[in-house]
Amino acid sequence: MRALVVEDDRRIAEDLARALTSAGFRVENVADGEAAWFQGGTEAYDLIVLDLGLPRLDGLTVLKRWRAEGVEAPVLVLTARGAWTERVEGIDAGADDYLPKPFRMEELLARARALVRRSGGLATAQQEVGALSVDLNRMTVALRGVPVSMTPLEFRVIAYLALHRSRMVPPTELIEHLYGDDDAKEANAVEAIIARLRRKLGAGVIGTRRGFGYYLEGAQA
Ligand code: CA
Repeated sequence: MRALVVEDDRRIAEDLARALTSAGFRVENVADGEAAWFQGGTEAYDLIVLDLGLPRLDGLTVLKRWRAEGVEAPVLVLTARGAWTERVEGIDAGADDYLPKPFRMEELLARARALVRRSGGLATAQQEVGALSVDLNRMTVALRGVPVSMTPLEFRVIAYLALHRSRMVPPTELIEHLYGDDDAKEANAVEAIIARLRRKLGAGVIGTRRGFGYYLEGAQA
């Protein structure tokens, strides 16, 4: 899962990046509104954390522009403490949730996970897909009840397929959500991870339809 953190306070931005990375996100940071508008409008994110007080372009304007342009990523807005008008304006502008500063990182992560889950149409963090159990909060995978150890990248693949279980995920989309902007985005890298996962999980867990993409067996209607 790929997250964009928009925050001009460098310390908070670093804390957010560290926490979200440990929660399984691939994190990118931008520190001003203009850069945020561009980045959020051109790249596909599974979550955006948006501070409202930003240099160059305020967060509320950025959010309104994104929504007007059809950016659908779930957005968690960071507001100043006690500023209830900011919360109302944020939600009106298309925020999915908000958190007043200062906040506890545990709460931010819980809200972030809930947003990602809801955007995938899932009510709970524990997902059963065919023979697989995927725990999106604890970042664990079990096959027929037996835990399977995963690298962070492998887990992100499984989690992404579980979150988008109702459809096939094209390799290009998987690449976009697994890697950041700066990484080399190569289709054969995804093929290599899928091959490794298939060796780990055995046949009949990750399906492919040539030309369409990947899916978790047992998830399709
Ligand atoms: Ca700020």
